[in-house]
Amino acid sequence: MFKKILIANRGEIACRVIRTARRMGIATVAVYSEADAEALHVRAADEAVAIGPAPSAESYLRIDRIVEACRRTGAEAVHPGYGFLSERAEFAASLHEAGVAFIGPSPAAIAAMGDKIESKKLAVAAGVSTVPGHLGVVGNPEHAARIARDIGYPVMLKASAGGGGKGMRIARSDAELREGFASARNEARASFGDDRVFIEKYIEEPRHIEIQLVGDRHGNIVHLGERECSIQRRHQKVVEEAPSPFLDDVTRAAMGAQAVALARAVGYQSAGTVEFIVDRDRNFYFLEMNTRLQVEHPVTECVTGLDLVELMIRIAAGEELPFGQDDVRLEGWAIEARVYAEDPERNFLPSIGRLVRYRPPDGDGIRVDTGVYEGAEITLYYDPMIAKLVAAGRDRAEATGRLQNALDAFAISGVRHNVAFLAAITASERFAAGQLSTDFIGQEFPHGFAPPTEPVAADRVLLVAAALAETRLHAAEVARDGAVCEPAERQLIVLLDKRAHAATLRAEGAAFLVETGGGSTLAATDWRPGQPVMHLRVEDRIATVQIERLPGRAFRLVHRGVIREARVLTPRAAELLQMMPAKQPVDTSRLVLSPMPGLLTQVIVAEGQEVKAGEALVVVEAMKMENVLRAERDGHIAKLRARPGDSLAVDQVILELE
Ligand code: ADP
Ligand code: ADP
Ligand code: MG
Repeated sequence: MFKKILIANRGEIACRVIRTARRMGIATVAVYSEADAEALHVRAADEAVAIGPAPSAESYLRIDRIVEACRRTGAEAVHPGYGFLSERAEFAASLHEAGVAFIGPSPAAIAAMGDKIESKKLAVAAGVSTVPGHLGVVGNPEHAARIARDIGYPVMLKASAGGGGKGMRIARSDAELREGFASARNEARASFGDDRVFIEKYIEEPRHIEIQLVGDRHGNIVHLGERECSIQRRHQKVVEEAPSPFLDDVTRAAMGAQAVALARAVGYQSAGTVEFIVDRDRNFYFLEMNTRLQVEHPVTECVTGLDLVELMIRIAAGEELPFGQDDVRLEGWAIEARVYAEDPERNFLPSIGRLVRYRPPDGDGIRVDTGVYEGAEITLYYDPMIAKLVAAGRDRAEATGRLQNALDAFAISGVRHNVAFLAAITASERFAAGQLSTDFIGQEFPHGFAPPTEPVAADRVLLVAAALAETRLHAAEVARDGAVCEPAERQLIVLLDKRAHAATLRAEGAAFLVETGGGSTLAATDWRPGQPVMHLRVEDRIATVQIERLPGRAFRLVHRGVIREARVLTPRAAELLQMMPAKQPVDTSRLVLSPMPGLLTQVIVAEGQEVKAGEALVVVEAMKMENVLRAERDGHIAKLRARPGDSLAVDQVILELE
């Protein structure tokens, strides 16, 4: 076994690999860029080597510097994590040349699966079912249109060198195809330096289901069941689970057999994933093979009891797989939610800054894989993932319940994040019913993520939480002022997003009987002012609410993805408030502001032009993503205040609407 390995990655995955290596008694070497000198993976490793400036191209993607770091530290093997150099055959080959083992498959297997057109040809030859399409480069829009009519609309244009959901376009007509062809090609050239594009049938309302594999250097290949990753945004996974609520044993076995056949065809040795798209009738089609550890691998670890990183290390060291196909048992259910520094209320724009507060949840069946800590900085240089939250249980309902409680308790501040959005996804009836498809987010949140306008079940908990919070605050003040006893009964008016509810609180031992128009509830909490999370007992259930103090007797509360502003008043104060003239909120919808620091790459509209709500105005590039800013209402462009090529500060005015 290796004595020392180097991890050629950063963030949560570097930390996760280090954890297993440490358990195996293997020393670890981290590499880091200038932006990561204080990062968690650097602190977690036994040694760390600086490899260059912040941009990945000058550090984490520098093969020469990583090989040199191995030489200097005497690392015998390298784990590449995911992203960065993990799927670069040239990297694996350079390590081999330097006498260092690559903890992954052979350069030949990486190369064979690295190209979508070539890997599909290989799949067809291995008897794997593929999406109907044209297995060749499409030269021009006319060629594209001929093929599309042949396959039948809708079709999908894809970059052959693509990955990470980039370079893909759906087309439902010749016109859309022409437009999509140009943009898919441009995006492919910009992202991958390779503009080859191909076409395949677009499968409607599909599910993304993938098979996890492991192969050793002795010819054994075993599959570890599936993961369903249908909850996606822009073709990027957001929530993943194992097993899939859709597969039956026959389909699972058939998909597993095809995945193993493909792996065998390329002599696959390590952990890898074969991705399939599955239609409503459980027909499945090969999409691509990822020749690395995947982001969502923890759900497979939860249901198999295996450590995939350990297996990868043992395989790279030449050991034989310690089990065969018949020994693999899937037990229980696991769901992963990706926590990102992005703002779901502002079209998922990436957010950067310091994690002023970072309190991950814990509890039965909860696993948090993270690369950050409280006080750490989220920069614009790398992927904005903060953590992966994984919940396991005996069945899907138990795993979902645990995930929901953990999301309710996950306290993050300092950057915008998607925790409430993840909670809203997992709280939906459709999620509970397991009716997933890659259109899930688009259909469930057609207007983006916003608090429900009508009262919902979570509001009862929020109402009780607000009343208790005010009462605890009041009690703390009374105690400070030297008074000894609290009144046994208090009348309050709770404004939840401006909807008024009268509440009476009556002390019952350490608990309160909260009476409102909606009925009476026995509730208790030991929350103290200043804590970011309130656990409260509501009847015989424990609920968790995120709580943030706002000016006045007001709070921002979040529970099950429902975000409300609550204001708690005495009846007298409520009466006085009613007599006050309503304050007119400042109208900022007139100004289009840059939601983050970035580069203005495109101005789509011209001064004087009429625009409709939802229409694209400008494109801002930040964190490697193109963000289209849209009009929030109808109007006309009064003034452009920035030009393409301008660097934008956060909240800088880009244009004025009238
Ligand atoms: P998965 O199926 O494992 O989610 P993705 O295609 O989403 O795979 O990519 C995995 C991770 O690798 C993502 O976090 C993504 O940001 C990162 N990634 C993808 N391509 C690159 C790249 N060229 N350089 C750096 N990171 C990348
Ligand atoms: P990437 O390399 O970016 O991961 P994939 O080929 O794996 O690219 O596709 C990513 C996602 O795009 C899939 O999970 C699925 O949601 C969608 N997708 C890809 N191909 C098709 C298709 N033919 N029909 C419908 N959706 C597709
Ligand atoms: Mg993929």
